[in-house]
Amino acid sequence: AKECGRNHYQIYNHAIGAKVKEYVAIENGIRQALDLNQFQVYYQPQLNLVTGKIDCMEVLARWLHPELGWVPPSQFIPAAEEHGLIVRLGEWVLRNSCQQVHDWQQQGLPKVRIAVNFSAQQFQQANLCDRILQILAETELEPQYLEIEITESLVMQDKETTVTMLKRLQSLGMTISIDDFGTGYSSLSYLRILPASKVKIDASFIRDTPQSSEDSAITAAIIAMAHSLHLKAIAEGVEHQEQLDFLRSHHCDAIQGYFFSRPVPADQVVLLLQAQGQD
Ligand code: C2E
Ligand code: CA
Ligand code: CA
Ligand code: CA
Repeated sequence: AKECGRNHYQIYNHAIGAKVKEYVAIENGIRQALDLNQFQVYYQPQLNLVTGKIDCMEVLARWLHPELGWVPPSQFIPAAEEHGLIVRLGEWVLRNSCQQVHDWQQQGLPKVRIAVNFSAQQFQQANLCDRILQILAETELEPQYLEIEITESLVMQDKETTVTMLKRLQSLGMTISIDDFGTGYSSLSYLRILPASKVKIDASFIRDTPQSSEDSAITAAIIAMAHSLHLKAIAEGVEHQEQLDFLRSHHCDAIQGYFFSRPVPADQVVLLLQAQGQD
């Protein structure tokens, strides 16, 4: 058993070593990509099940590296956090998407909100609220079109300060949504203190719904609980008709996932919004 333990340790160490090299390469790559404007923003529409329309779109960062091809966010977001670059990247994504949504509004397309992901480090800046207000002013986007997506682990870092900041953002007209809901350690206690208006049921609960009776029960319970707290519930990672049918029958407010739409670049959003404006 000891022998086995040591081997495991070596394998683990080796894997970390490889990761470190990869991280350094990615760090330089991220700096360069920021300088060369190589990041892009994709949008994944959320379908409101009550109105049958898109009312919000999640903003997802994309990186097309000239040699490596598409680098997944699961790689470059943690790397950007690790190297203190997430504040710059986060502001780039926010400015780019606010500008884009304002342009769509100017073109007369149906008005939708954007939901932008924030990392814990962004909330560690004392002036985050002012930075966001500055970007909204620069891009002339009204605050009610911006939704802030946070996770419980982000709030855990410095609960009092984060809650204070979120309350200020909400009082300024932005909405707050809790991402990956149900995966944290203290989801329920956070609901009491967070000024949120929406919970996003994590895709891991949706995946085996409705086949798994446990996952279906959890999904239904989250929706019911959200509603009793006057919050909207949205399901993430919806890929099948059966999932949609289940969610509808439990009065889930909205869905996001490949079944309705993959994340798409800005030009494809225009087509989706135009189609919606016609009916
Ligand atoms: P997330 O915030 O939970 O975003 C949802 C992820 O699920 C996205 O992965 C999306 O492409 C994927 N997804 C959507 N529908 C489906 C579906 O039906 N099936 C499956 N299997 N997946 C689906 P993506 O774009 O790879 O992003 C991964 C994570 O990277 C995000 O998870 C988020 O935590 C982070 N991220 C992406 N963009 C940003 C950003 O601008 N800032 C920050 N801080 N994090 C970001
Ligand atoms: Ca998210
Ligand atoms: Ca999520
Ligand atoms: Ca996530």
